[in-house]
Amino acid sequence: MSTCSRLTLRPRHRGLLTAVVFLVACGSPEEESISFAADPVFDIPNWSGHWFKGNTHAHTTNSDGDSSPEYVAQWYKDHGYAFLVLTDHNVFTDPATLAHLVDEDFLLIPGEEVTSSFEDASVHVNGLNLPHVVEARQAETLVATIQANVDAIREVEGVPHINHPNFRWSFGAEELAQVENDRLLEIWNGHPTVHNDGGGGSPSLEEIWDILLTGGKTIFGIAVDDAHHFQGEFHPDRSNPGRGWVSVRADALDAVSLMESLEAGHFYASTGVELTEIAVLPRTLELHIAQDRDFKYETTFIGASGEVLLETGENPAIFQLSEDVGYVRARVRNSRSDYAWTQPIFITRR
Ligand SMILES: [Zn+2]
Ligand SMILES: [Zn+2]
Repeated sequence: MSTCSRLTLRPRHRGLLTAVVFLVACGSPEEESISFAADPVFDIPNWSGHWFKGNTHAHTTNSDGDSSPEYVAQWYKDHGYAFLVLTDHNVFTDPATLAHLVDEDFLLIPGEEVTSSFEDASVHVNGLNLPHVVEARQAETLVATIQANVDAIREVEGVPHINHPNFRWSFGAEELAQVENDRLLEIWNGHPTVHNDGGGGSPSLEEIWDILLTGGKTIFGIAVDDAHHFQGEFHPDRSNPGRGWVSVRADALDAVSLMESLEAGHFYASTGVELTEIAVLPRTLELHIAQDRDFKYETTFIGASGEVLLETGENPAIFQLSEDVGYVRARVRNSRSDYAWTQPIFITRR
């Protein structure tokens, strides 16, 4: 802790808000409980601008992808993406060589999948908006290895996102809760063996996300392709492009604006459902879903501990806040089981 006091709100309470104040009085911590009348309201995000669709995880022949950087970038440009991060394993695929593909509607952001391991665990951390290659690091423990790679990316002012925790069942909420200086976690990855949904006693990526949020970590959920296979058949057993993306709210299509919006949670993740507006008022969260053909939509509003607060088939989907539920996020499913996930809107009081 760098500050001398911290207010920690317990996530579950009704009516009266109970808070525990840790007075970390410059080295002499003491704890006391106080109670006060609650008036919970949403902590309204300060966002503006436009939606920009992008994928932050894709491979080329510079690592284990099957297509050249040129082909991969062209694929995303041709499929309506506004930005792409090429993230080869421990290789810096420099978008400067692809500058002829960049225009006012399409941006390439330099990146890398910093690829390490600890014992049997795979530790893959994407670095976005990097200046050059980042060497993968190993450390004495699994948590320290994840942290070392996050730190390596931060040291060059890149933005880390932690990839596919359930790949080889490598790590979960317990480890991620101990990592610092990370804001982005893959909650959906299009690769066929990343076990997004968990099972057999292991939590899904979405459940891991809720555990982290409930524990007080500010972390935002992203969906990515992790695309490797652009040639041949598109099949669920191959890692093809076009499956998972983010739609980022930013003032301009430039790397700095996009990175700031991602790290502030000003985006939603999707596997096929498009949102046109996410409106947050002091006590109202309202989602406007883009109507695709005759598809139907079911929206689930979720609070701390993964509690389902409301399910609705309405569009717009509207949630009214009446008590402190820690945070509220939404998952929209269409009648083909494509999804969109909004980021948590945290609750404050006034
Ligand atoms: Zn990976
Ligand atoms: Zn990958």
